[in-house]
Amino acid sequence: MVPNDKFVYVRTFGCQMNVHDSEKMLTILAENDYRPTDDIHRADIILLNTCSVRAKPEHKVYSALGRLKKLKEKNHHLVIGVGGCVAQQEGKRLLDRIGHLDLVFGTHNLHRLPELIGDVQASRKQKCAVEFYDEVKSLDLFPAPTYDEKVNSYVTIMQGCDNFCSFCIVPYVRGRQKSRHSESILEEIKALTRRGVREVTLLGQNVNSYGKDLSGGLTFPQLLTNINEIGGLRRIRFTTSHPKDISEELIMAFGKLENVCKHIHLPFQSGSDKILERMNRGYTRKQYLEKGERLRDVCPEVGITADVMVGFPGENEGDFHETLDLIERLQFDNLFSFKYSPRKGTRAAQFPDQIDESTRSHRLEVLQKLQKRITLERNQALEGSYEEILVEGLSKGSKEEVTGRTSSNKVVNFRGSPDLIGQLVKVRVEEGYANSLRGKTI
Ligand code: SAM
Ligand code: SF4
Repeated sequence: MVPNDKFVYVRTFGCQMNVHDSEKMLTILAENDYRPTDDIHRADIILLNTCSVRAKPEHKVYSALGRLKKLKEKNHHLVIGVGGCVAQQEGKRLLDRIGHLDLVFGTHNLHRLPELIGDVQASRKQKCAVEFYDEVKSLDLFPAPTYDEKVNSYVTIMQGCDNFCSFCIVPYVRGRQKSRHSESILEEIKALTRRGVREVTLLGQNVNSYGKDLSGGLTFPQLLTNINEIGGLRRIRFTTSHPKDISEELIMAFGKLENVCKHIHLPFQSGSDKILERMNRGYTRKQYLEKGERLRDVCPEVGITADVMVGFPGENEGDFHETLDLIERLQFDNLFSFKYSPRKGTRAAQFPDQIDESTRSHRLEVLQKLQKRITLERNQALEGSYEEILVEGLSKGSKEEVTGRTSSNKVVNFRGSPDLIGQLVKVRVEEGYANSLRGKTI
């Protein structure tokens, strides 16, 4: 280490898109000689990459910012920046509210980070950049190779959303849907494969709506077909998919394209037609169930996971039981479940029939208990079966064990040497637990 080394510390809140955006921030700052650090006290720049989808992650950002005041008092050269959804939503208000904050950069301004930080350093004045652009430049940013290259990598294929579900802040803070050009996506994946990456996860708010905003471009199934042909790549995952845009062509891709993993994350949000309509989701309970069943017909081993919400305004006991019933019928492999959280500026936040906190908490508890049972049963049902695992690294618990995932996205731990990392290995599932499987090589 030389005395002139400069360090950047990034803390990420929220989803995989944000995790990946943070990787991109580190990449462009590395081009300006900033090295990543996990030690906040050593940092010259501290960036918080934020989420405002629910109230909880948003509150966490404010507490984290509060704690940074002392560091700034000790080091006046420190630059503190906030990016992501809270930055986009609050803009200059955030700078007015938090005096020790230097920079607010919105979701379309990530590529400008070096320039914006340079401005703050030169002027020592607060800076705000939250414009939306026709083109999202950061979509084409490739994260640089790292010394501990992973087996899997995220690849953004689109950003933003045009759907305006009545509860959701995303279209306001991420902007309209922007798909990345397929040539750029394919080029990035080829480069990743040359670096040893064996699995990519295509990211977007609604990946299967990919291309709808591009004239004459590829559809999502066509994009998958092209990625499937890239030599050296073994697995393709993608998230999140929107039920209304699940085409027959996409369903068939699960059976046809050998590198496409047999897993889909398909949020349903509610099992009640009344609630789905008020959410502006664009599908009915029956249509969702039909798509799920069709996926299982075409590909019986497919893993289906979803997002679901309880306590949306107007949700009565009957509606909630329809949600539980849908879960029982489809037997999800796992669920991300949330209490509805009113978001300022969305339509649902204005609905008069908001549900009280204790009812929301109770419903969430009931739902999670049901899903816990189903997940365990589905994991146990795999005992004795044979699965192909892409080995991703050493197990957290033991150095003699490695960890990886099944095509259906279940974590499997088994005895094996680090040489297996990056390889596809056949294992026999010995035991199914609540969150993972235990396997044995054959
Ligand atoms: N585009 C995806 C879709 O429509 O299925 C979901 C993206 S959203 C950022 C991720 C998840 O956050 C949603 O599926 C939903 O369950 C949850 N979510 C979004 N807004 C919420 C809110 N106001 N309260 C609680 N959960 C919310
Ligand atoms: Fe939000 Fe709905 Fe768009 Fe998903 S589809 S990001 S829930 S508005």
